[in-house]
Amino acid sequence: MTYQPPLRDMAFVLDDVLDAPARLSTLTAHADIDAGLMKQVLEEAGRFAAEVVAPLNAGGDREGCRFADGKVQTPAGFAAAYRQFCEAGWPALACATKHGGQGLPHLLNCALFEMLSAANHGWTMYPGLLHGAYACLSTHASDALKTQYLGKIVSGEWLATMCLTEAHAGSDLGLLRTRAVLQDDGSYRLSGDKIFISGGEQDMTDNIVHLVLARLPDAPTGSKGLSLFLVPKFLPDGTRNAVHCTGIEHKMGIRGSATCSMHFEQATGWLVGDEGRGLAAMFVMMNSARLHVGAQGLGIAEAAYQRALAYARERTQSRAPGRTATANAADPIVMQPAVQKLLMEQRCRIEGGRMLAYWSGLLLDLAEHDHDAGQRRLHHDRLEFITPVIKAVLTDNGFQNASLALQVFGGHGYVTETGIDQYLRDARITMIYEGSNEIQAIDFLLRKALADGGRRMTDFIAMIEQDVAQNGASDDSLATQKQQLLQLTRYLEQTTHAIAAASAGQPQLPYFIAEEMLRLTGHAAMAWLWLKAARSATRQHAADPLFYGGKRDSACYYFAFLFPEVQQLCGVVDTCLAAGAPAIPSDLTHHDAA
Ligand SMILES: Cc1cc2nc3c(=O)[nH]c(=O)nc-3n(C[C@H](O)[C@H](O)[C@H](O)COP(=O)(O)OP(=O)(O)OC[C@H]3O[C@@H](n4cnc5c(N)ncnc54)[C@H](O)[C@@H]3O)c2cc1C
Repeated sequence: MTYQPPLRDMAFVLDDVLDAPARLSTLTAHADIDAGLMKQVLEEAGRFAAEVVAPLNAGGDREGCRFADGKVQTPAGFAAAYRQFCEAGWPALACATKHGGQGLPHLLNCALFEMLSAANHGWTMYPGLLHGAYACLSTHASDALKTQYLGKIVSGEWLATMCLTEAHAGSDLGLLRTRAVLQDDGSYRLSGDKIFISGGEQDMTDNIVHLVLARLPDAPTGSKGLSLFLVPKFLPDGTRNAVHCTGIEHKMGIRGSATCSMHFEQATGWLVGDEGRGLAAMFVMMNSARLHVGAQGLGIAEAAYQRALAYARERTQSRAPGRTATANAADPIVMQPAVQKLLMEQRCRIEGGRMLAYWSGLLLDLAEHDHDAGQRRLHHDRLEFITPVIKAVLTDNGFQNASLALQVFGGHGYVTETGIDQYLRDARITMIYEGSNEIQAIDFLLRKALADGGRRMTDFIAMIEQDVAQNGASDDSLATQKQQLLQLTRYLEQTTHAIAAASAGQPQLPYFIAEEMLRLTGHAAMAWLWLKAARSATRQHAADPLFYGGKRDSACYYFAFLFPEVQQLCGVVDTCLAAGAPAIPSDLTHHDAA
């Protein structure tokens, strides 16, 4: 069974839940956008994902990448598919027309990458950093670098990498040691070793544009001493730069993606942005990449769910409860309530995750193009606030969903011939890279929710409460769910202040409950979007009872079976606030104490 792009579900979120075509068309940059155009783009993107990329998924996993003599060979068909991707203009989709892009909304790019990741996560890793590199360079690079590199990145002719990680510096980039020394001609020479660099070497493009974090000789220690450099594989005069791949990793998943060790031996590079401001410049790329990784989690969840649903409809075992005896002693397992629960949990996470991901895509467009500077700032702040939540929640869900999908297959999922195990293996990395989900939780609570005196949390809550008040009255049957959401928003606001007050005397406390606060915020956002979805589905029910009735059922299922996690999360936060951070046995931190 191959991947079916969920175009109807996507259109429901874009048109009915977010009213995206109408909102986008108020922006001068997207005045031509309407639902028809968005549908057309998504149909084409879906066709590309399903027909070109998806057929390479299982083979890419089996074959993996090969490394010999400094060169990487990607799995059969990968390079040809990438050529088709560029010929069709997909890399340029959401890049500005002044740089050769198509100038279409980021929201469409988000949907494109959901489908590509669903079809083939390993392949999608190669173009996955293109847009982040474009955003970083178009914001921070000098005009000379933009002229030289931006066009090639927009067209996809050259792929880009993000070179951060070193063997001793993963989550803590402040530890990294790669050095950069200024030359008389204004360029820099970079020396050092990076590991785990996705697409650091490949056979898809003639040149590779590495964006590298490094330290100047007189730079202070820690992350404040980092600067960002553009280091191409081939220099503008065509000579080979002194940056080489020294090996690739053997991995449990995304085997079609080359994860490279890179050696920089006095490689030539150019500064991007200001000296010592490398992390700020890189954050443009990292934030874009974090949303992109959220879309990976979503895509994998959808692809695994489709496989599980198809299997559950075919596989027969036992008679389902409440079914009268027939000649057939066994029903398809999809008739079993336990299997229905496995499937509904996946479906609710996917549909909720899609609303959240596309809302962030819309925020990105509004933050860039709203006519009003104050509104642009507001959308930007909301996007920054929700980015770690999207990255962590959607990737946790992607892995959980892949596991539930495998459960539907029973033992046939655990053996490799069904291929469902690939989703589980591929999904696992999304919880680790682009800042592990633990780092996302800390970023969220410490830097987004608490840092500004709770201002962004207050705005987020006010936005939800206002929307619920304005639109909630039309559907009384959702009154209970509405109250549950409002209880949660009130809890979040009060608790954010309580954590801020308590953490003054207990600096460890917020770190212990960061994950819970992130997940609670994720539930607030999802519950808000589920209410919008349910209202819209009720309004349109008569037009297509099966489809819209299903959306309402999913909303009710979410509130009945997934939202109750909120009570458990609040319980942990309350206990820690009342009793302080938990005592940790000393033999955990001092291994010689035992
Ligand atoms: C397949 C793959 C592709 C990758 N692609 C790239 C790439 O293209 N470019 C790139 O630069 N890097 C890339 N990475 C590296 C990736 O971003 C890092 O692995 C990740 O940031 C974690 O760093 P680490 O592996 O050193 O783990 P560590 O930082 O050693 O962390 C180990 C564990 O401790 C936790 N932890 C560490 N510090 C803290 C803290 N302060 N608070 C709470 N928890 C903490 C982490 O969450 C994790 O669970 C890739 C990695 C893989 C496996």
